[in-house]
Amino acid sequence: MDYVIIGSGIAGMTAAKTIRQHDPEAGITLFTNEFHPVGCYARKDLTRRLMVELVEPDELLTETSSELAEQNIQVVYEDIARVLPQMNQVLYGHYARKNYDRLLIATGATPRLLDATGLHYIGVHQLRNYEDASLIEAWMPQIQQSGAVVIGGGILGIDAAYVLNYRGVPTTLVARESRLGVGHFSEAEAAQVEERLKAEGVKIILNATLEAYLSEDERVLDGVRLSNGQVINARMALCTVGVRPSTGLLEESDIEIDEHTAAVTVNPAMQTNIPQIYAAGGCASVDGFIAATWVESAEQGRIAGLNMVGQSASYTPQQAVYTPLVLQPAAQYA
Ligand SMILES: Cc1cc2nc3c(=O)[nH]c(=O)nc-3n(C[C@H](O)[C@H](O)[C@H](O)COP(=O)(O)OP(=O)(O)OC[C@H]3O[C@@H](n4cnc5c(N)ncnc54)[C@H](O)[C@@H]3O)c2cc1C
Repeated sequence: MDYVIIGSGIAGMTAAKTIRQHDPEAGITLFTNEFHPVGCYARKDLTRRLMVELVEPDELLTETSSELAEQNIQVVYEDIARVLPQMNQVLYGHYARKNYDRLLIATGATPRLLDATGLHYIGVHQLRNYEDASLIEAWMPQIQQSGAVVIGGGILGIDAAYVLNYRGVPTTLVARESRLGVGHFSEAEAAQVEERLKAEGVKIILNATLEAYLSEDERVLDGVRLSNGQVINARMALCTVGVRPSTGLLEESDIEIDEHTAAVTVNPAMQTNIPQIYAAGGCASVDGFIAATWVESAEQGRIAGLNMVGQSASYTPQQAVYTPLVLQPAAQYA
């Protein structure tokens, strides 16, 4: 049996290892378009790792490529361009094809940038992968002098604002809502987070969003203008306003996609409308639930892997509890 997995995040990796445990003879090929670091790494630790100078990418690795080779999991560093269910093939590179008996789509999600005037200025950032974190690290001396603004009051925005401030960056956190962490924290928890962030020195602006990125030379960011008219001087604007499932590669494939969320529609066995094809993690929607955390994505990968090898397992959505870095004393790294 040949298993192909698209995506080397926690969902894809957990599925690969689950399949290997149950089928020692199977061919398992894992495609990834993330080339750095080589292997699989803990994306969830990226923000925390920015608390100290981010130097060694390998420190983030959860599986090195030699560990994967020992498990006979072949990792291919290629971007999958298309899935062809009628032919049981995926398409990559210059018209290269790979056949599969079972396919798992575990492509995760892509950050949404706030599309406003000046989006292309140097200094407008996102934080999804190691490359993004390295860019922020390289930009650190500039922003320690001139400040940063984090747009988005969700978990990632709260953590990023805390970490930048911890690194000595004058930091402003802007949230559209009237409080932080809507959908994750109760009002009392949100008030506690807000109080702790302010005590650390983070400026917080609520009920506002970004209207324009500003730059005098129309090249490098000098600041942002908010919907309430306020101008904030900053050399970096970090957008943490949510993600969109990475499912562009499935266009015209007949694999069912939820038209509102762009996630792949799967049943509790993590199976799509095409029986040999499964999806898990941040790109999949199980009865309308899309995993947004490490633990949820890992569990979906495990369930998908079990069903792919012919066992019967169901995913039950559970709301993961998340404690922001500002409330975790142990997170102090240095
Ligand atoms: C900065 C940051 C901090 C976070 N912190 C936490 C935290 O503290 N706790 C927590 O629980 N969660 C956290 N999360 C969320 C958590 O990391 C995600 O929920 C989880 O990583 C999703 O796993 P996944 O396997 O579904 O997708 P991903 O980890 O996104 O992996 C998908 C992989 O597929 C690859 N891919 C996509 N398209 C293709 C293609 N066409 N061809 C080949 N490869 C492709 C991608 O490049 C990527 O490598 C954080 C996320 C970020 C970005």
